[in-house]
Amino acid sequence: MTTSQTNSLHDDLRQGVRQLCRRFPDAYWRDLDKQGAYPTDFVRAMTEAGYLGALIPEQYGGVGVGITETSIILEEVHRSGGNAAACHAQMYIMGTLLRHGSEAQKAFYLPKIASGELRLQAFGVTEPDAGTDTTKIWTTAVRENDHYRIRGQKIWTSRAQHSDLMLLLARTTPVEKVAKRTHGLSIFLIDLRQAVGNGVVIEPIETMINHHTTQVFFDDLRIPHDSLIGEEGMGFRYILDGMNAERILIAAECIGDGYWFIDRASGYAKERVVFDRPIGQNQGVQFPIAQAYIHVRAADLMRFEAARLFDNGRSCGAEANMAKLLAADASWEAANVTLQTYGGFGFAKEYDVERKFRETRLYQIAPISTNLILSYIGQHVLGMPRSF
Ligand SMILES: Cc1cc2nc3c(=O)[nH]c(=O)nc-3n(C[C@H](O)[C@H](O)[C@H](O)COP(=O)(O)OP(=O)(O)OC[C@H]3O[C@@H](n4cnc5c(N)ncnc54)[C@H](O)[C@@H]3O)c2cc1C
Repeated sequence: MTTSQTNSLHDDLRQGVRQLCRRFPDAYWRDLDKQGAYPTDFVRAMTEAGYLGALIPEQYGGVGVGITETSIILEEVHRSGGNAAACHAQMYIMGTLLRHGSEAQKAFYLPKIASGELRLQAFGVTEPDAGTDTTKIWTTAVRENDHYRIRGQKIWTSRAQHSDLMLLLARTTPVEKVAKRTHGLSIFLIDLRQAVGNGVVIEPIETMINHHTTQVFFDDLRIPHDSLIGEEGMGFRYILDGMNAERILIAAECIGDGYWFIDRASGYAKERVVFDRPIGQNQGVQFPIAQAYIHVRAADLMRFEAARLFDNGRSCGAEANMAKLLAADASWEAANVTLQTYGGFGFAKEYDVERKFRETRLYQIAPISTNLILSYIGQHVLGMPRSF
């Protein structure tokens, strides 16, 4: 594809997503936030438009575009004032199934995920005691004849109550019996429709944002042995494979947030008159907005560089991590500046600034916290000693 073809595809995508998002204005998201409700209509519209199947190859009923295009879709959702967190996982967690699943698993699940018949929105990795140290998870899957028996607990499993399927990381070989802590972990695809009430209990967690996250308890859940994805014991490597895609896409959401904030802040600064002049005429108000805009633009370039490398099958761990950190920092800076520019009105829910402010703060912590990215760069890019 030539650059001009790519650009026209990107322009079309942007226009298409913007048009869809116009049906879901600020008031839609504000109301959901107030009710703590799930954006069912928005998710349905995204599914019907094919956007949630963007990364699924055409042979399985998806659109088959790259991470670059998928990141544009998510950026535009956030740039419109919406929040793709209710459904973004459907775009990238199926990558584990696509890359490591058997042909039978792919042929069965991927077309149904692409059409929206089955929702794969939940990814259970984090546990309360292990935190970021994933190799310390204690959820176990023990093979017994033709099934696995699962025991343990996950926390922060987002969207589990709005998903038919869940990807689960569990330990299949005790840590003391493996050569490396990263060995002996496996990935399973669990049908939550059968599991809930039969060994699985899901409890919602109330949070500062409307995120539909949960904790999931496994008490002797029996799943068929062919729920295993790929090889037993290789699960940690499989999830690492998917993390660069996730980081690039989350970076794009932050960039969408960043542009949304800058539009609002600069617009308000032009209109709000205090001391007989628009507040944006004061450089004390204008410069922080300009500075935040520069940082969002710079992060945007790193996002496209990471996505370009990813789509060309090149190694992009450093760029994906840097894009995520730069974009999360830039959107948070833009959020702060916008709240400051709005003054007291920034606290009023009807302007949506406080909602987006709360929402974009998450990305300093999830799906990976800033410190862990810094340690990745310090260790793997700059060759400094490992600290943990
Ligand atoms: C709303 C929300 C949704 C989420 N959705 C999902 C999901 O769908 N699936 C899922 O599996 N998980 C999910 N998570 C979990 C998320 O990925 C983790 O919260 C995140 O990775 C951080 O882990 P933790 O909360 O256990 O923090 P901890 O590991 O307890 O760390 C706490 C703090 O200490 C810092 N820290 C820890 N160790 C070090 C160190 N060695 N050096 C320097 N700093 C350190 C961290 O950077 C962090 O700031 C979600 C979290 C939230 C809040």
